[in-house]
Amino acid sequence: MNVITGVSGSGKTSLVRDVLLNSFRYESAINCKSISGIEEIDEMIAVDKTPLAGSSMSTPATFTGVFDEIRKLFAATHEAKSQKLKAGDFSFNGKSGQCPVCKGTGEIKVSLDFISDVSTVCESCSGKRYQSHILKIKYKGESIFDVLEMSVKEAMKLFTDLPKIFQPLSILDEIGLGYLRLGQSSATLSGGESQRLKIARKIIESKPENALFIFDEPSRGLHPDDLVHLQRLFDILIKNGNTVVVVEHNPIVISKADRVIDLGPKGGDKGGKLIYQGNLKGLVDCERSVTGRFLVM
Ligand SMILES: [Zn+2]
Repeated sequence: MNVITGVSGSGKTSLVRDVLLNSFRYESAINCKSISGIEEIDEMIAVDKTPLAGSSMSTPATFTGVFDEIRKLFAATHEAKSQKLKAGDFSFNGKSGQCPVCKGTGEIKVSLDFISDVSTVCESCSGKRYQSHILKIKYKGESIFDVLEMSVKEAMKLFTDLPKIFQPLSILDEIGLGYLRLGQSSATLSGGESQRLKIARKIIESKPENALFIFDEPSRGLHPDDLVHLQRLFDILIKNGNTVVVVEHNPIVISKADRVIDLGPKGGDKGGKLIYQGNLKGLVDCERSVTGRFLVM
């Protein structure tokens, strides 16, 4: 875990984005004289806190791919087979199973003049998103809507013997997202939640083992409790063999660094110089470093 520190404007983001990321992308030294070692890295991934791509129909379940497996389970029940229902019929995005009135959203948007849009629960499906014959199909006593209403933690109990569903959910739980509901709209997620969900998907889908992950001030705007989850996420990535590079001001995050690169001495024209690189102890002892002075070991 590498942390880039330094006062605002000292060039931290320029170093990771303009130099490191660009040099990797173009396979040559960009904005620097030379660069070595990038050929050892399979993939470089910059993680930001922008909202998740996709419409309001994107949910933790669809985003992590577990919903595909859950729909197959419902389609494999005796009841579904006897009605010739397919996995696609259990999608709230598909015409065949969704409530035709609210189109699977469970709510009706009403545009009022002078007032922003107001949503009301769809009266046709009572907010349950599906047609009634789909809701009658049960897996272990739960309908597809019941499952979408479950938190990640609750769903882990239901699918405990099904690794394809259980494992992705357990990753979400490990990084502190166990309280999210499977069918919760991605539009309701905070920047920190979106950030962790994106990485979780990456871990679930491609299981990176030799990638370099870049985080630019990931702690900004996070609740202190979330810092623990963020660190847990870094630990998982590193345990799997990846490298993490974090631009950060937060002393708690800095204190977890294996290696620190401190830039300075000041911002703007007076920045861009390497003040220190090495382990954390050395940074604290480095008299030239502003960051070092603020760290208590
Ligand atoms: Zn409806």
